[in-house]
Amino acid sequence: MVDLIGQYNKIQKEVDEAVINVIRSSAYINGPEVKSFQKELEQYLDVKHVIPCANGTDALQIAMMALGLQPGDEVITASFTYVATAEVIALLKLTPVLVDVDPITFNIDVEALESAITPKTRAIVPVHLFGQCADMERIMKIADKHGLYVIEDTAQAIGAEYTFSDGTKKKAGTIGTIGCTSFFPSKNLGCFGDGGAIFCNDDELSSKIRKVANHGQSQQYVHDEVGVNSRLDSIQAAVLRIKLRYLDEYNEARRSAAQYYNDQLACEELIVPATAKNSTHVFHQYTLRCNGIDRDALRTFLNEQDIPCMIYYPIPLHHQKAYQQERFTDENYPVTLNLCQTVISLPIHTEMTREGQDIVINGIKNFLKK
Ligand SMILES: *Cc1c(COP(=O)(O)O)cnc(C)c1O
Repeated sequence: MVDLIGQYNKIQKEVDEAVINVIRSSAYINGPEVKSFQKELEQYLDVKHVIPCANGTDALQIAMMALGLQPGDEVITASFTYVATAEVIALLKLTPVLVDVDPITFNIDVEALESAITPKTRAIVPVHLFGQCADMERIMKIADKHGLYVIEDTAQAIGAEYTFSDGTKKKAGTIGTIGCTSFFPSKNLGCFGDGGAIFCNDDELSSKIRKVANHGQSQQYVHDEVGVNSRLDSIQAAVLRIKLRYLDEYNEARRSAAQYYNDQLACEELIVPATAKNSTHVFHQYTLRCNGIDRDALRTFLNEQDIPCMIYYPIPLHHQKAYQQERFTDENYPVTLNLCQTVISLPIHTEMTREGQDIVINGIKNFLKK
């Protein structure tokens, strides 16, 4: 599904040198590489504060802790997402409220979101799924109207750009109260292990986030509140500094591969991914919807020929044992239920060749001819 070695081979000299330098410096934790990466990412995103942390799940948890959300507070998020989003809500004893998604963009359905607001709602977590932004302008309007925090889960969409109706452009993760991302190796900006970061434009809130991520510590050995230990290693920061320089190029390569798939695969039986009208798409995943054909048969057919494909996501969150609630009845999730049955994701990465894509495309065409 991804080609991390092919990508590494092209930047090996730079990356090896940077990693060796960290090893030789012995500044393994909170070294200068972490500070420099933070500054460079702030510049790239045009955001005031980047707070690096250990992974994307931690980023979400720290964001919710820093906002002072309390047990029983309701947090609204999408029913069609990776589990991490709902997991941290539940872990903090907040109440996850799952809402359905839009069938075209796979992102949170804004009308369903507004209907789910109750007096207990404190925050919304839009997930920029598969690489394009949720409808942030409308989400921010609703949040303002109801006095809610917005925590963007931009683990899959770093580098995507959202355009407001007045023409203002902002990068994914810099629009809400807080943005959270992951540098897991297969993400669009991935390191060589685990990593994550939190984005924020508010000075006071960013100090709070930093404090929570560092044992709730205000000065050395002074702890005002219960925090966590969540850091980005210097070696990972050194790798990320180099890969950040290529991020736009990497995202462009993904877009170009997606366009080729679109051109070759769009047909009655396959609905190719649509780009939202106000967001660029960075194609963390390239996801088709099967229309009147058996998705699982297609998957088996491709797998038998060693053609990689994946189902993101096969089970809706409201069906997962850990997240079931009586109020989450199937009738409220028609789109999510349909997507779990019909989506199929194809290999997409920065090193994709047309020859590699043709193997996938021909495999699918052979299935359709059957
Ligand atoms: C990857 C991912 C996360 C979690 O990131 P980790 O670094 O693996 O903890 C959270 N949300 C979404 C949508 C993701 O894709």
